[in-house]
Amino acid sequence: MKCRRCPGTAVIELRRHNAAFCKRCFSEVFVEQVRKAIRRFAMIGAGDRVLVAVSGGKDSLALWDVLLDLGYDVDGLYLGLGIGEYSDRSREVTASFAESRGAQLTVVDLAEEYGYDIPTAGRKGARSTCAVCGLSKRYVFNKAAVDGGYDVIATGHNLDDEAATLLGNTLRWKTEYIARQSPSLAAETGMVKKVKPLHRLSELETAAFAFLRGIDYVVDECPLVAGNTQLRHKEAMNAIEASSPGTKAEFFLGYLDRGKALFAREDDVELTPCGECGQPTTARYCAFCRARAQVLGERLGEGPPVVVEDRDVVASMSGEVMPIEIYGRAPA
Ligand code: SF4
Ligand SMILES: [Zn+2]
Ligand SMILES: [Zn+2]
Repeated sequence: MKCRRCPGTAVIELRRHNAAFCKRCFSEVFVEQVRKAIRRFAMIGAGDRVLVAVSGGKDSLALWDVLLDLGYDVDGLYLGLGIGEYSDRSREVTASFAESRGAQLTVVDLAEEYGYDIPTAGRKGARSTCAVCGLSKRYVFNKAAVDGGYDVIATGHNLDDEAATLLGNTLRWKTEYIARQSPSLAAETGMVKKVKPLHRLSELETAAFAFLRGIDYVVDECPLVAGNTQLRHKEAMNAIEASSPGTKAEFFLGYLDRGKALFAREDDVELTPCGECGQPTTARYCAFCRARAQVLGERLGEGPPVVVEDRDVVASMSGEVMPIEIYGRAPA
């Protein structure tokens, strides 16, 4: 099979584009898609310092690789989740990538810094393992970016991730979360700007890019992924995509072009500093501090926990928001 762009032999066929590419042209197409995403959403400005959240997986390492090649001032942040051999291997792979590219990597260990790991939080906390893991990542990435003076946090969310999140929120008509889902979330008080430059590229395309670039990444899934709702939504999207190539891109990219404007976004949320850590929150204590206190058996403030429906900005990056508990006196 011939490459669509040059006389070379194709190494990858992209059914949704009805095209095949050789190694060099595919890499060019991949990078063009990243540039297009960055340009369209004004993700990174001149002179911005970027912190990329790296997990050791294909997406975040491919993203770091492309951003370095494009000449951005980009450092990496790895968060140790304490998930046994999976975390050990992820850390090794990330560190060796950083060394091979002469890039700056910061490592934060959840257990060392905050006193718990993800398997323990999943067992002891009220949230599912993946919910507390996502919450912890968003909190630590934002805090590290604020402390390090970064302008932008970049994450490796790809088209499959975004389409699955949109599907999940649409299935339950979580209109407020649908409205907030975006490849670029502007900075707010105490919250660093967050961007997803891979949102136009599928999981398969990112895996192919990482492979063709010779990037060593962790292939195994996290061993705690079994209860992950997003995984089920991804499987559903993949089943539709298999019989109708292009649906996934049409669903998410179509949402950005034509659907998003239909969902009003509430912008009048007032953020105040968390009473424990000072990070911005809509409640008295931020979701991270509440989850951490629950896992460690500590109490924040006085009085019994009160469960209310509320929105927490720290939990808004992926559009997943859950009921939160506010520690304090119950209203009379
Ligand atoms: S699968 Fe769940 S526990 Fe594992 S890294 Fe992802 S969010 Fe965290
Ligand atoms: Zn070619
Ligand atoms: Zn807090």
